[in-house]
Amino acid sequence: MAYFSEFRDPVNSKIILDNIHKITTKNWMIMEICGGQTHAIKRYGIDQLLPENIELVHGPGCPVCVTPLEQIDKALEIASLPNVIFTSYGDMLRVPGSSKDLFLVRSTGADIRVVYSPLDALQLAQDNPTKEVVFFAIGFETTAPANAMAVYQAKKLGIKNFSILVSHVRVPPAIKAILSSESNRVQGFLAAGHVCAVMGYWEYLPIAKDYNIPIAVTGFEPLDLLKGIHSCINLLETGQYEVSNEYSRIVSEKGNVHAQKTLGEVFQVCDRKWRGIGMIPESGWMLNSDYTDFDAEQRFDVSSITVPEPEICISGEILQGLKKPPECPAFRKLCSPENPLGATMVSSEGACSAYYRYTQE
Ligand code: SF4
Repeated sequence: MAYFSEFRDPVNSKIILDNIHKITTKNWMIMEICGGQTHAIKRYGIDQLLPENIELVHGPGCPVCVTPLEQIDKALEIASLPNVIFTSYGDMLRVPGSSKDLFLVRSTGADIRVVYSPLDALQLAQDNPTKEVVFFAIGFETTAPANAMAVYQAKKLGIKNFSILVSHVRVPPAIKAILSSESNRVQGFLAAGHVCAVMGYWEYLPIAKDYNIPIAVTGFEPLDLLKGIHSCINLLETGQYEVSNEYSRIVSEKGNVHAQKTLGEVFQVCDRKWRGIGMIPESGWMLNSDYTDFDAEQRFDVSSITVPEPEICISGEILQGLKKPPECPAFRKLCSPENPLGATMVSSEGACSAYYRYTQE
């Protein structure tokens, strides 16, 4: 707890907050990329403590939230097959597909198991050689290296009954898509520290220059977030379009080069559809030609499944910073954590669940 309390210190928080109030002279809109940051901001009421002319909007950095509906349906299809053990992190089990979720499919007898690592799934494949073991590989640059390593190990060990259903996404193309939109309102970004711990922030340097936008790399504790907001406002107020690293205890410009090498060994960049947002060029990873044998979409022939998004859910607009959860007509009425209509209400990192849990709005 000593570690956490250091970054939740109220005296230091007040000093940074006072500085933010002192330097802010104009209206600014900043987007925190990561859903974990959104939850911390709402949980600690950080947005309520900022000057009125600073607005925080919530970005697309929630892996469960941006996994497309059709990818959930592909998972449901594969998980329903008789000889399959389907494995996933726990939070994907409640995410609604077009008509059901993995929990419901499990209740009908499907062998669906929660694992804590893709290597657990690989072990299951070794322990059950007559079964097909599939891992649901979703997420950002944070989870992709471990999934790449599991596939790399499977190939090295000659394990043929293991595959992954890939839905990996990359942050920098999403930032570019938001900034390129005609309806963009975002003037500065808080980049996600855990993503940058893996990838570094070298990819963000040209974005800051090309789009004239400051980006502050920061973490998830109140002091980290306040430092990031302070830096972003300072850069905005002084007209500097740079990347500032406010999470230097974890993040370097180059990032974890070993993890990046593993990613490059197994994956290649591809266009990827984001739930509620649509296709973003070069925003995902797929298995490269050396590893397509481990691609569950091809192995189980589910690539052709496509599903339209439900009309009532406005999570796509929320994930682009265009609207906030209370603006959704279903929020707290038809949609709640017990009865989620969209992934942003299901996920522990989703903006809708953050507003539901931590605000009265
Ligand atoms: S409240 Fe529910 S329906 Fe509305 S945007 Fe959020 S998840 Fe979608």
